[in-house]
Amino acid sequence: TSVPSLALNAGNRIPQLGFGVFLIKPEVTQQAVEEALEVGYRHIDTATGYGNEAEVGAAVRASGIPREEVFVTTKLKNDHHAAGDIEGAFQRSLDALDLGYIDLYLIHWPMPKNDVYVETWRTFTGFTSDGRAKSIGVSNFKIPHLQRIIDETGVTPAVNQVELHPTFQQRELRAFHEQHGIETEAWAPLGQGRYDVFSLPPIVAAAEAHGVTSAQVVLRWHVQTGLIALPKSSSKDRMRENLESAGFELTADQMAAIDDLDQNVRLAADPDDMN
Ligand code: NAD
Repeated sequence: TSVPSLALNAGNRIPQLGFGVFLIKPEVTQQAVEEALEVGYRHIDTATGYGNEAEVGAAVRASGIPREEVFVTTKLKNDHHAAGDIEGAFQRSLDALDLGYIDLYLIHWPMPKNDVYVETWRTFTGFTSDGRAKSIGVSNFKIPHLQRIIDETGVTPAVNQVELHPTFQQRELRAFHEQHGIETEAWAPLGQGRYDVFSLPPIVAAAEAHGVTSAQVVLRWHVQTGLIALPKSSSKDRMRENLESAGFELTADQMAAIDDLDQNVRLAADPDDMN
């Protein structure tokens, strides 16, 4: 199955389905990522906070797939915002991954109560000039946070990675992203098991119509909406199932019925509340 990709504002392309490794224990991460690469993923999403960067890098190297064919994202940990430590944290991520460069480096959370994310972003803007990061972006930023970093540094993030699934579609934020050429990455694309997204009637109906699973319908909805979805699974069968969502097309009516499931209700942490 060939996964479509989007061009980021720095010019590099990002596959619209990525394999997320949050909560995959370091002992099993290398094997999980090797399996994901075997199944066909070419985009891996990790973070310093996940504690498995070294295993992600080891898997990419062991796969024998040319470096430039795999897109690897990692993220600055929340307690590394403080001025002075950002450069060190970035270098430790580069060393742990040991892949030469990072395709996309993100600020994991804005931590607005600390109010240093603008300075953090200013430091990030130096990481692309020498090629250590191909692109830089943010995660869990709300519109006022995005507006501030753009206004105060003049540099627009390539992506914003946010909670996004059928009952929380982030329409207002996505409209802002579109105006600024920021791509939207969806974490918890399958609802993170917090509600039974798989049984919602429009999703079941589309799955039956196409002879696919509900998970495939949800992931196809993300991709067809123009989002980048980061599903997580430790099972190779589900990794394959999720990747194969790229292989069919929902009708306009089926897309509209899923669009209508939006309740604009966040299920996970509000970025403004993070300490
Ligand atoms: P998810 O929506 O991918 O849900 C994962 C759950 O869905 C798991 O319990 C898994 O068993 C189940 N699942 C996966 N495929 C399935 C299938 N085909 N059928 C049935 N069940 C299936 O949510 P997530 O794991 O929280 O998010 C995915 C990725 O997003 C993470 O691995 C991480 O890379 C990223 N993430 C980022 C942030 C952030 O703050 N930036 C936060 C959370 C997650």
